Amino acid sequence: MAVFLDQIHRYDVGEIEAALRRGIEALGVDLGGKRTAVIKPNLVIAAAPKTAIVTHPAVVTAVVRVLRAAGIERITIADGPGVGLDVDEVFRKTGYVALAGELGVELLNFNVAERREREWKYGRLGVPAILEDADLYVNVPKLKTHGYTTVTLSIKNHKGMLSEEDKKLDHHLGLHEPLVEQAKLAPPGLVVLDGIVGLEGDGPLNGKTKRAGILAVGTNMLELDATGARLMGFDPREITHLAIAEREGLGTLDPEITGTAEEVRFEPANEEYGRVMNIYSWRDCTACSMCIDSFSAGVHLAIRDPRYWFTLVPKLLYWGFFGKLHIIQGREAKVPSADGRVICLGKCTRDLAEREGLIHFPGCPPSARDVAETMRRKL
Ligand code: SF4
Repeated sequence: MAVFLDQIHRYDVGEIEAALRRGIEALGVDLGGKRTAVIKPNLVIAAAPKTAIVTHPAVVTAVVRVLRAAGIERITIADGPGVGLDVDEVFRKTGYVALAGELGVELLNFNVAERREREWKYGRLGVPAILEDADLYVNVPKLKTHGYTTVTLSIKNHKGMLSEEDKKLDHHLGLHEPLVEQAKLAPPGLVVLDGIVGLEGDGPLNGKTKRAGILAVGTNMLELDATGARLMGFDPREITHLAIAEREGLGTLDPEITGTAEEVRFEPANEEYGRVMNIYSWRDCTACSMCIDSFSAGVHLAIRDPRYWFTLVPKLLYWGFFGKLHIIQGREAKVPSADGRVICLGKCTRDLAEREGLIHFPGCPPSARDVAETMRRKL
């Protein structure tokens, strides 16, 4: 197998479509005889495409056009955004409602999709029926750094197929191996990486945009991810889930490359904590990352919802500029030694919060609305 690379510097659908066609031809992907397809972008929260937190709709539009031209009539765009988020709003804000209306494709929320139980290393796992039934599954990740997994590319994006309950499994099972085991179930036939503008630093939600000019096409998640990681300046052998995936036979970390793209060094995420102004989110690899995603979603909600503009946003600004706020999560969370106020997220930290008399946000994970409400009352 190989990975095709091209340099694209703007979100021009025509240019992306032409590059995609070149990639499909170079890799010898046969789209003939297929009638249905499901496309999975990364739509983790309700963020505008220009933030580079989500897969840009121009890339998915190009994918839809190529599939349609190949005779694929029924196309569904599916994702399962974070817990407690308004999924309609996620689809709208990221530009996918407009895209679906324009192109006549369907939108599906994986969180409520029909599932089939499948055997996996740890028992049984619900896989969306549509991923197994569609003639083609196209995974369209975003090029981003990640505080727990160094990079978030197609293997991490594939995890978005899980139900809300199953997404928490990483907490019980460890972080990296479950990602690899999930990648063995219903793998995509085509992977298209949106690296035109990526996200560096405190990804996957709070990083800085990075113009990378990369479009990559592949047929194997591991090989595309290894290539994406290298282009960001990381050694894929040092990225735990990628190294495990190679050992497990999911592909090679050194695929043949066709086409070219320049390496663009991405600033990695800090492994100890993420930081926005004086708000620190401490990492704990026993956390499944849904708690901190919910916290970020709660802050985003407060910024967008006028009812919090005079009640919560000033408090966040105060803590961000003049105070110090520490967010902790996970079964083995520790109270940071630095000064400031500590917030314990989720049921994993309940005992610690009780013992230490700290503010606690219940839930597994707390919903974005609960996060905003609890902060409004308790900060
Ligand atoms: S409490 Fe938070 S970190 Fe713990 S399992 Fe639930 S969502 Fe994951």
